[in-house]
Amino acid sequence: MTFEPVLLTAKTRIGADLNQWLSEHGGLGLKNALKDPDSIINIIENSDLRGMGGAGFPTYRKWKAVADQINEEKYILCNGNEDEPGTFKDRYLLKETPHQIIEGALIAAIATNANHVYLYINPHQADAIESMSKAVEQWIKNPLFTEIESYLKRPLELKIVKSSGRYIGGEETAVISTVEGGFPFPRQKPPYPFESGVHGMPTLINNVETFATVTHILKNGAKWYNELGIGNASGTKLFSLSGDVLKPGLYELPMGTTLRELVFNYGGGMLSSSPFKAVFTGGPSNTLLTNEDLDVCMDFDSLKAKGSSLGTGAMIVISEGTSIVRKVAEYVDFFAAGSCGQCTSCKTGTYQLSRLLRRIDTGSGLQTDLHALESLCTLLPRSGRCALIDGAATVVSSSLQQFKEEYQGQLID
Ligand code: NAD
Repeated sequence: MTFEPVLLTAKTRIGADLNQWLSEHGGLGLKNALKDPDSIINIIENSDLRGMGGAGFPTYRKWKAVADQINEEKYILCNGNEDEPGTFKDRYLLKETPHQIIEGALIAAIATNANHVYLYINPHQADAIESMSKAVEQWIKNPLFTEIESYLKRPLELKIVKSSGRYIGGEETAVISTVEGGFPFPRQKPPYPFESGVHGMPTLINNVETFATVTHILKNGAKWYNELGIGNASGTKLFSLSGDVLKPGLYELPMGTTLRELVFNYGGGMLSSSPFKAVFTGGPSNTLLTNEDLDVCMDFDSLKAKGSSLGTGAMIVISEGTSIVRKVAEYVDFFAAGSCGQCTSCKTGTYQLSRLLRRIDTGSGLQTDLHALESLCTLLPRSGRCALIDGAATVVSSSLQQFKEEYQGQLID
């Protein structure tokens, strides 16, 4: 049986024409939600949908946590900041398929009784903002929107909010700070957004891919979604495949597809037939996968069991001949530049990691530099208020565990 993509299906690639979307069976998920609002969260629970922004948190638990709060003001934030190296899925959905995203966010408003829906988009993605802006105008004028307001018994605010364009602006509490008009400084959690988010009100934040998926689950049912996945995994996943492969690109595949299949079947295999070396999974902030891991199923639980993480589904493949030390140095530079500077450990820790990696990569590193790197990898994790420093430390410690001889080979003593 051939697999039919759900989110990337041609039917949803219709720019910002809402009438066309509705005539091609868009809107059915929303109509089902309006028919039986009380069953929405159960359907999401039975579907086993997990958060696609990287953490894989059960979606129904966040939705239920917000639904259970008794407040007149509640916010839905659709996180489209996407700025992690190697991740390029949300910008595609935002530009090409705006309606499935907005429909999913509106279903969330019905399920949680929220009266503000903000579509938070990275200003570097001008095409995405244009496409989503046209779509918002059309939704607001559509009779379905009025039906939602009647159900909510108050006006519904649907609008686009531009992020600062900074990497850290995608961290969920930084999203809240930005929406409130401030600098995207992450805040300590708890309190979690569901209990105290925008202006202290209950706030549901999900990633673009998560909301887009909800639209199809409400249309086709939880069982349909479960059965799309392989083994115990549910649904589909967008994989951003890049690096030393013949056919890099965005692939929607059953959740649980093996890494080998992604790289050697869909990705066409390695560039210039050079041997496979490693994959930076889920963006460059997780544990690297190597040759021994090629048959791992790419789903949240299987990768966690391997000590890695699916993250956003970004897979950056590198071949023999590509320097691990240089790649890690590049990613750590990215984290150092992206640190908001609030936590000293993050601001100075990413700087120190970057400095040591550069020394080793450029051939002036000493054994003591390697020891200092190892020591920072034990000191830094969980020392910041958000996960940025953990990501930087994880990619360094994982590369040291798996490719230590490569580091040692570049030292001068
Ligand atoms: P987290 O594990 O702290 O939280 C996951 C989500 O669950 C959050 O929304 C949180 O509010 C919610 N949550 C936690 N406990 C809850 C509870 N008891 N009830 C209700 N909701 C609860 O993760 P995080 O810091 O939000 O995200 C980290 C992930 O982000 C990493 O895994 C990384 O892969 C990913 N990431 C993504 C990008 C991107 O561009 N999309 C960039 C950087 C990092």
